[in-house]
Formats: sequence, structure tokens, C-alpha cells
Amino acid sequence: MANNSHLDNLVVLRGLGKGATAKVKAVQDPATGAIYAAKILKSQGEALTARFREVVQNEMQSLNRIHHPNIVNLINANENGVYVKKNGSMYNCMYMLMELCPNGELFDILFQSGKFDERTTRFYFHQLIEGLEACHRAGVTHRDLKPENVLFDEAFNLKITDFGFAIAIAGRDGSGALHTHLGTEGYMAPEIHARKAYSGVSVDLFATGIILFIMYSQNPPFSKATPTEPYYRLLSNKEERFWQLHSRNKAPNYYSADFKSLITDMLTLDPAQRLTIEQIKAHPWYNGPTASAEEVG
Ligand code: ADP
Ligand code: MG
Repeated sequence: MANNSHLDNLVVLRGLGKGATAKVKAVQDPATGAIYAAKILKSQGEALTARFREVVQNEMQSLNRIHHPNIVNLINANENGVYVKKNGSMYNCMYMLMELCPNGELFDILFQSGKFDERTTRFYFHQLIEGLEACHRAGVTHRDLKPENVLFDEAFNLKITDFGFAIAIAGRDGSGALHTHLGTEGYMAPEIHARKAYSGVSVDLFATGIILFIMYSQNPPFSKATPTEPYYRLLSNKEERFWQLHSRNKAPNYYSADFKSLITDMLTLDPAQRLTIEQIKAHPWYNGPTASAEEVG
């Protein structure tokens, strides 16, 4: 074991990914042989440490509240970890141990193998909605849903991860108003861009609508959900031209009327008009044929 890096008593096996705040590595507990993903936040200076501590605590609090097959499972966390490099040098870090998702990000799968067919899109959309419903039921809104934060475990079950921006919503109905301007630009709801108070539930559903569009079309629907962005303007004005512009290199009538109506009603400019999870689940597109687990695995 001398030539391995270590995270406390865990052996570091390989890198899994990187985000804005953390490095994530596969680690093994030599006592049990179990392999986990460790999300590691290196502590560098006082200011960064305070900010990172907040991210870790935020994420731990959110994940501790939610136990669901479509949410990544948090095993434990250490705010005072030590990372020992191969050359013996060490640094302090904070880390969270999570279940390993060896099949990686939705982002990479879409990038490598292209878009999903309609039945596969629906199969994963169901899992995304189930996971999101579990978050909202637990009083947690994610606020950074995007294909980089949607992972697949070894059986290709979909798992929502990265609750660093998540927040507990006031009231179980999620009606508490939020103000913080955050998220990832292409997935942010129009009310966040407009710096209005927003409901966490409806901004998560907006981002989920964009993920749905990307799974089936492989391209983002627009660059930014502002009333003046040309593609978003076409979509929110319910103009057919939006779909024509997104039909290049696709079969004629690639987007069904049901798909168009679901996307249009999930991505409305006015959050009060946006479909709720209940309405999404009752939508005809949601209830169409889906791929089986054997087909997608
Ligand atoms: P950040 O807050 O920095 O964005 P994330 O939690 O999103 O950190 O993790 C960064 C990346 O690491 C993810 O996009 C993914 O590629 C990889 N990753 C994170 N968690 C896991 C996991 N449990 N299993 C496998 N890969 C993971
Ligand atoms: Mg991330």
C-alpha cells in the first residue's frame, strides 16, 4: 500500500471527476474491501475553508434528509480529514463518502453516445422526477440540476448528486421564497435571471425540463432563459419555429405533440404557470411506453 495515496485509512484508487468545488475519487476501505466515492474539498486558507465547510455542511444536511434510490446515498463525512499523497506529503481536507456511481455522468453519456431514443428518455425522466419528488418531499431543493450532477450506478440507475447549492425550503409545500442568485446559467429559471424571489421547487422543475430536452435532442433548448434570448422567446411564445430550428439532423416529426406540450409547459416564463410534479406525472407524454431496465443497462 506504500505507493497509494490515502484519505485517512482509505486507499485512493482513481479520480472520478471534478466540479467547481471538489475533486471526487474512488476509495477503498481495506478492512472491508468496500469501494466508495469520496468528494474531497481541500482546505487552503481561512476564507476558503469557511466557504467549503458551508458547502459540505449544506450537502450533508440535505443528503441526510433524503434516502431514495434516485438520490446518491451519503455514507458519512469527515470535516477534519487528512490526505496523504504518494510522495508522503499531506494536507488537511474535508470529505464526504458516498455510494460510488461507476457509470459516470449523464453529461458524458450524452456526449459520447448521443441522444436517447424516446423510450429511454422517458425511462430516465421517470427516475429524475422520482428523485426530485423525494427531495421536495423532504423539504430540500437542489438548485443546481444539470447533466453533470446526474450520475449512474453500476446497474444504470439514475442518481441525483451534488447538493452543495441545495437549501431547505420553508414549508413542506416549498412555497418559501428564495432570493440567492445561483445555479448554472443554462439551467437557471427566468425568475432567477430576473433576480426576483423564487420558489425552489419550480426552479428545480425548470432545470429538469431542460435536462429532459437535452436527453432527447442532445442540444440545449436555448442559451439562457431570458425573455430576449431568441430561442427562449420562440419557446415561450409557443412558436413552431422553435421546434423547426431544433429539428436539424433529425427525422421529420421527431418531436411528438405530447413532448412539445410537456417541454413548453415545464419551461414557462411565469413560474405560476409551470407544471407541478403531479401534473407532469399525469401528462400523456410521461405515461407513454418506456424502455425496460434490461434494455438500458
Ligand atoms: P462539485 O460540487 O464540485 O460540482 P460534484 O459533487 O458535482 O462536485 O462532483 C464532481 C464530479 O465528480 C461529478 O460531476 C461526477 O463526475 C463525479 N462524481 C461525484 N460524485 C460521484 C459518485 N458518487 N460516483 C462517481 N462519480 C462521482
Ligand atoms: Mg457538480
